[in-house]
Amino acid sequence: MYGWNGKILRVDLSTNKVRVQEIDADFALKYIGGRGFAVRILWDELPPGVDPLSPQNKLIIATGPLTGLVGPSTGKLVIAAKSPLTGGYGDGNVGSLAAVHLRKAGYDALVIEGKAKKPSYLYIEDDKVEVLSAEGLWGKSTFETERKLREIHGKDIGVLCIGPAGENLVRYAVVVSQEGRAGGRPGMGAVMGSKNLKAIVVKGTKEIPLANPEEYKKLAGEALSTIPKRPAYEFWRRQGTMMTIEWSQTNSVLPTLNFREGVFDFARLIDGYAMEAMKIEQRGCPNCNMICGNVVLDSTGCPSELDYENVAMLGSNIGLGHLGKVAVLNRLADEYGIDTISLGNVLGFAMEASEKKLIDEKIEWGDFKKIVEVIKDIAYRRGIGDLLAEGVKRISEKIGGDSSKWAMHVKGLEISAYDCHAAIGMALAYGTSPIGAHHKDAWVISWEIKVGRFAYTREKVEKVIEFQRIRGGMFESLVACRLPWIELGFELEWYPKLLKAATGVTITLDDLFTVGDRIYALIRAFWVREFKGKWDRTMDYPPARWFEEPLTKGPLKGSKLDRKKYDKLLSMYYEMRGWDERGIPRKTTLEKLGLSDVAAELEKYVKLTP
Ligand code: SF4
Repeated sequence: MYGWNGKILRVDLSTNKVRVQEIDADFALKYIGGRGFAVRILWDELPPGVDPLSPQNKLIIATGPLTGLVGPSTGKLVIAAKSPLTGGYGDGNVGSLAAVHLRKAGYDALVIEGKAKKPSYLYIEDDKVEVLSAEGLWGKSTFETERKLREIHGKDIGVLCIGPAGENLVRYAVVVSQEGRAGGRPGMGAVMGSKNLKAIVVKGTKEIPLANPEEYKKLAGEALSTIPKRPAYEFWRRQGTMMTIEWSQTNSVLPTLNFREGVFDFARLIDGYAMEAMKIEQRGCPNCNMICGNVVLDSTGCPSELDYENVAMLGSNIGLGHLGKVAVLNRLADEYGIDTISLGNVLGFAMEASEKKLIDEKIEWGDFKKIVEVIKDIAYRRGIGDLLAEGVKRISEKIGGDSSKWAMHVKGLEISAYDCHAAIGMALAYGTSPIGAHHKDAWVISWEIKVGRFAYTREKVEKVIEFQRIRGGMFESLVACRLPWIELGFELEWYPKLLKAATGVTITLDDLFTVGDRIYALIRAFWVREFKGKWDRTMDYPPARWFEEPLTKGPLKGSKLDRKKYDKLLSMYYEMRGWDERGIPRKTTLEKLGLSDVAAELEKYVKLTP
């Protein structure tokens, strides 16, 4: 096999047993890599109902056939497991040298099972795989951990690690790499912590086998050379995703005060221009020539890497209009290993709960000093932090009142930084995202604002599915960054060409989209099997706030979503996907996608519609 290494490394932390599993071309072509490999392994191997924080859960680190090769933004990996936040399928991608090294060590994926008896880290150097003591690392921040591991093992390694939040099983703890690149929003850091696994260190020195190395080198060189010539490149390098603060404010979608509003009075103070005035350097993922991590000095003088999501969620959404202070909160979240999007939601939710006297703790909008304390409390599960470490869905179930209406999540995963009072397509994208409310799979909001944001049309449903195929299917299984395509118009047609040179196999864009549909159906089957009798279409609804409480400020004052019309769009979505009215893939759909075995297993839990 070319392109893929054809090997999955398996480590059982309970027994310290290591084995290498061979994968064949059928498996590789059917699932491509990344999210595709991860969900198939989790579907096949996790008993339904398993406690996500128990040794029975499995942590999957998966790459794709282009990962680690010089090419357009190909230095990423997917980290996946059953989520302790949502109880369903969870994953995220991280740009990390660990992705490049894992492939050069000779593996396409790593599966970690069991639980180490003591704090440990995994060291992989090509064929040498060891579980080493992490006693001197446990309790350290992600930044300190990575620095220490580089002192021990040298600079030329890839590291994935957790901070105190992962160790203390904060349900939205993430995995961090290179002091600022984080992934695995639905609690992948907590899954690592539950296994007593502080870090994964990888060093690879082998060649990745290519079908046509000369052709690949030529094509990748051409592809990369087009990127700096794109018209949007220069501004992208200046601001990266931070340009979106201004855009969101202009279009009334900037999450403000726990998604009550879409405009923030102090937006100018936290936007891309404010960032440019503070910027000291730019960082990025490996193999990327359009790096977008903007590093500023925060209010305490420490470096902090900013992007749109973390600034909106830790700025406007919690009423904090001071970029230096937002950068402090962002850095703390990265050091503790807490997801910034969920954290901004939890803080906003706690502030509203405090205002409405549903919790005793006084946490006021924008109270920087108090927020710093609360973030520490969350990381160490102290005082109010123990409750807040559970995520907005569980907190709301505990404190009651009318809080479920303004607990901003879908399926338990907190919403990313786009308010949808007046963005129907984006609300559907959040509703049907395969991990809960995340923008990654179908960021349709910019398109929908151009074509008419108030219309409930079939065209919007088609666009959500089209984007899910490209972003959630193709990019997440190739594990290539979607930003060259979205931000600079890098043509999708490059990927089949690169794949052909790397693997020797003709894989068309349509083939990749079918893989995307297969992955979506399988992820949906995973959720349905986990939730059995509790599954229904309301799992695909966005929060009640957007239906019931109109915007009170800005040019779109009075706007809100219409529940009946949303429900019709959802039915259209199901029909186009070949799913039934409950949002469950039809038997024929599963069969058409080559998932007959999945249909047979799923029928043990729910009756499938033919
Ligand atoms: S564009 Fe940004 S997120 Fe994508 S690979 Fe480059 S640095 Fe990473």
